[in-house]
Amino acid sequence: MIIIDGSEGEGGGQVVRNACALSLVTGKAVRIENVRAKRSKPGLMRQHVTAVEAACVIGNAECQGLHVGSSTLSFTPGSVVPGEYRFAVGTAGSTGLVLQTVLMPLLLADAPSRLVLEGGTHNMLAPPFDFIAKCFLPVINRMGAKVEARLVRHGFYPRGGGRIEVDISPAPLRPIDCLERGALMGVSGQAIFAGLPFEIAEREINVVRRNLGWSEREACIRELPDDRGPGNILLLEAQFEHGTEIVSGFGQLGVTAERVAKNAVGRMLGFLESNAFAGPYLADQLLLPFALAGGGSFTTVKPSQHSLTAIDVIGRFLDRRLGFAQQAGGTHLLTV
Ligand code: ATP
Repeated sequence: MIIIDGSEGEGGGQVVRNACALSLVTGKAVRIENVRAKRSKPGLMRQHVTAVEAACVIGNAECQGLHVGSSTLSFTPGSVVPGEYRFAVGTAGSTGLVLQTVLMPLLLADAPSRLVLEGGTHNMLAPPFDFIAKCFLPVINRMGAKVEARLVRHGFYPRGGGRIEVDISPAPLRPIDCLERGALMGVSGQAIFAGLPFEIAEREINVVRRNLGWSEREACIRELPDDRGPGNILLLEAQFEHGTEIVSGFGQLGVTAERVAKNAVGRMLGFLESNAFAGPYLADQLLLPFALAGGGSFTTVKPSQHSLTAIDVIGRFLDRRLGFAQQAGGTHLLTV
């Protein structure tokens, strides 16, 4: 059994999700100790439990220690069965993080799957639906698979109630090189809000127009029905010839709309100034598929602690060496 100390590196929930996904793909059992030891509320939270439950269901796995607050989790995989599945994250936990856990095992299965995921679709500290659909999945599809995701209904923390549907047509993942992002083809910004005052979104979009110079057509406000809220997210998107980056800002109590927008604008400016193919979040999310493809490379910005930790976890299951090397001009090259 592989034993992982969940307090090492980033010490967060991604260790659990990556370990379960790798366990299902390789058939190797794993025990994670000190789960999320570096977080202020250590142990499994509701959304991690749902992600692991989903992995158990699709992979006929047996689990010990699977409950909220648990700090030790043992996961013994069975065989992955493709099919139609519905998973609901009780609270507004992120549907995207559940997808992160089950996508690779289902993608490498021998028949198609359809997932219905209910919960949060636009959560802090998780990939928003738009990021999954426009940044992450296009790269996965370039590797030979066919994955289509639809947003049926937005879900924000704390109410949740969102729904996404994902169709997965499996294929062996082939190595690809994503070195150049190509020319900037277009930009778009959306301040989405539901059940909150219009002026929150208006103030965010004003910061975007002023500081990024995006026009009224490029940066706009989108109001959702009140019953989807309360919720607010600012999505800033840059489309390049070979890839897309989306930076997000989440409206929060106690943080001004201007501050939310300025943070997001600062991160978008940083990405536009770099030459990297992948931003910091896309980079950590691509490590697992690239490792499973057994080769390939991409350029990115400075590797995050999430990425470095993901490489360690991957190294425990697969005989693959993934590493970042800094390049002239400040980008970093990931090779498998
Ligand atoms: P914890 O509470 O332990 O931090 P967690 O389960 O919420 O746990 P992390 O370990 O922090 O998760 O992992 C979060 C994942 O969400 C990472 O894969 C990261 O790339 C992704 N992510 C976070 N914020 C964004 C964002 N704004 N855009 C795209 N992806 C994001």
